[in-house]
Order: sequence, then structure tokens, then C-alpha cells
Amino acid sequence: MNEQDVYDVVVVGGGAAGLSAALTLTRARRSVAVIDAGAPRNAPAEGVHGLLALDGLPPAELLARGRAEVRGYGGLLVDGEVTAVTRVTGRAPGPEVPAAFEVTLADGRTLPARRLLVTTGLVDELPDVPGLRERWGRDVLHCPYCHGWEVRDRPVGVLATGPMATHQALLLRQWTADVTLFAHTTPPDAEQAEQLAARGIRVVPGEVTALETEDDRLTGVRLADGTVVAREAVVVAPRMRARADLLDRLGLRPVAHPSGVGDHIPVDATGATEVPGVWAAGNVSDPVAQVGPAAAAGTGAAARINADLVAEETRRAVEARRATTP
Ligand SMILES: Cc1cc2nc3c(=O)[nH]c(=O)nc-3n(C[C@H](O)[C@H](O)[C@H](O)COP(=O)(O)OP(=O)(O)OC[C@H]3O[C@@H](n4cnc5c(N)ncnc54)[C@H](O)[C@@H]3O)c2cc1C
Repeated sequence: MNEQDVYDVVVVGGGAAGLSAALTLTRARRSVAVIDAGAPRNAPAEGVHGLLALDGLPPAELLARGRAEVRGYGGLLVDGEVTAVTRVTGRAPGPEVPAAFEVTLADGRTLPARRLLVTTGLVDELPDVPGLRERWGRDVLHCPYCHGWEVRDRPVGVLATGPMATHQALLLRQWTADVTLFAHTTPPDAEQAEQLAARGIRVVPGEVTALETEDDRLTGVRLADGTVVAREAVVVAPRMRARADLLDRLGLRPVAHPSGVGDHIPVDATGATEVPGVWAAGNVSDPVAQVGPAAAAGTGAAARINADLVAEETRRAVEARRATTP
């Protein structure tokens, strides 16, 4: 990494959103650095499902292909974690393309950037049930479009920890007739109980105290009274928290997402945040986006960033022309 370079765009986060953006930007002949901490959200899953033409591809393979494509067009890929971004102010006029931001990594390295794209994703905060975290993304699931096919016709449980539980159970019924809702902390109300009963979904009252496993496979759900209900998969509703601490110094903080699943960095239709020069795409701004939509948002934001840079360069060119034209 050459610390003297001013990158047209620094992309923070090298998942589907960040790499798609970087591909578009490098193909637009922009200098791009992608800084990635190497912890994509779907890392525990065996495959990326529902992605046209690439269904089932291991997540790591998808990203390896993406990185190779970005490198192929001259993009710089940096392993590391960004801890802060600051706006560069008070810089004397002089450089043709001054940096607007300084991006600081945990190891102290810094990169100057004209524009910033934040594609840091989110953290899934899981219910605190012993044995659950270890199985996340394997047989503890959250998204039927990602994993429903893989558990079709199997005995599946839904852990009720919030108002979405009935909706999740009713949705899952599309893939399997053997759905049990564990009331846990959020028993269904009368209307929900009627809907569940009508769809043949059993409701088990009581607190869930652990998940049972055998030979590295989920086998059941243990209740406080010691009962174990045999299940091969459990669906949960994680709280989705935008990874956005690095934006603190820019005054950008996550707010509640309208879906109720967690928080996000709000953006407009172009991916622009409320801070000029800063865009966001993927799960950090849209927690319900799957890989395809996250990648598409990255591509869309990239095109807008390029247009914004073109506008800045045109302004500068006009000013320079006026200054030299008698
Ligand atoms: C278990 C599981 C299975 C899933 N299965 C599917 C599926 O089958 N199909 C599907 O379409 N979707 C699936 N998803 C959803 C999918 O994971 C997301 O849609 C996708 O990861 C969003 O991409 P992203 O680029 O926004 O974020 P991510 O893929 O999470 O990438 C963000 C990147 O930013 C990096 N980062 C974060 N903070 C920093 C920082 N400060 N500095 C530098 N880098 C940073 C992270 O390390 C990470 O590499 C699944 C999700 C989960 C949890």
C-alpha cells in the first residue's frame, strides 16, 4: 500500500456489496482500495443460495472470484480493519484531486480518499441459548430463502424471541409441514395462535434452555422442564446491528430500520448517506438484502460515485479553463 496515493474511492468492506462496487469503479478506471476485515456475514454457511447462475457456490469462493476480478482491473485489496474515518479539512489548494477523507486502519496505516463507500455489513446478535451460537448458519438459521430448501420436509423449530416469530413459522410452513414454534420469551397472541393452529404448526410453551446435538448435528430443543423436542433445524430472528462504529467521527450513526429487524445507516435511492462524499451499500444500509441485492446496491452506488467524481472533475476543469482563458 502506497500511503502517498489519494484513492478516488476507498471501499470499506470487501463482501458482495463492496467487491461489486469495486469492480464497477475499477472498470470505470478509478483508483480503488478495498479494505476488508475478512468476516463476511454468511461465512458459516456452506453455500450461497438463490443467486442466479451461482446457486450453492461456497461464500469464500464467491469472494475469492470477486477479489480476483477487482485485482484484474487494478484494484488494491487491503487486509485490515478500519477504525475511523475523518474528513480532511483546511488543506491548502494545490493537488489536482485533493483527498476529502482519511481512512485509518487498526494497525495505524492511513489512506487518503476522495470518496468513501461503506459496505461493512452487519452483526447478527443471536438469542442467548446454550449451544445455539456454535450452530449458526448450519442448522440454526434465519432466512428461509437462503436455507428453506435445504430443510424441506424436515422437523424444524422456530424460537420465539420477538414479534416476527409467528410470521417466520408461517413462512417456513411453505417448505416443511413439520414446524414447531417454541414460545420461549414471546408466546403467540390469540390471533397468531389461531393462524398457527390452522396451518398445523404446533406451539410448545416454556423456556428453551439449550440445543441438543449429536455427531455435530442438531437433534433437539431442550426446555426448562427437561423435555427434549426432536428437531433437525431451528430458525431464529437475530437482532441485526450495522457495523458502523468507524463512521462516528463523521457524525454518521445507525438508526432503527423500518422493518424492525435492527438498525442501519440510512441512504437515499443512490446509496448516498447524509454526509456528502460518503455512500453506503449492502447490509450496513439494508439489513434484509441478500447477496444479489447487496451486490446490486454496491454496483448502483459505484455508478453514482463515479458520476459525482466526473462532476467534480468537470467543475475543476471549467475553473482552470476560465483562469487561463483571456
Ligand atoms: C448464516 C447466513 C447465511 C446466509 N445465506 C445466504 C444465502 O444463501 N443467499 C443469500 O443471498 N444471502 C445469504 N445470506 C445473507 C448474506 O450474508 C448477505 O446478504 C451478504 O453477506 C451481504 O453482503 P455485504 O457485502 O453487505 O456484507 P458482508 O458480506 O457481511 O461483508 C462485509 C465485509 O466488511 C468487512 N468489515 C466490516 N467492518 C469492517 C471494518 N471496520 N473494516 C474493514 N472491513 C470491515 C467484514 O469483515 C466483511 O468481510 C446469509 C446470511 C447469513 C447470516
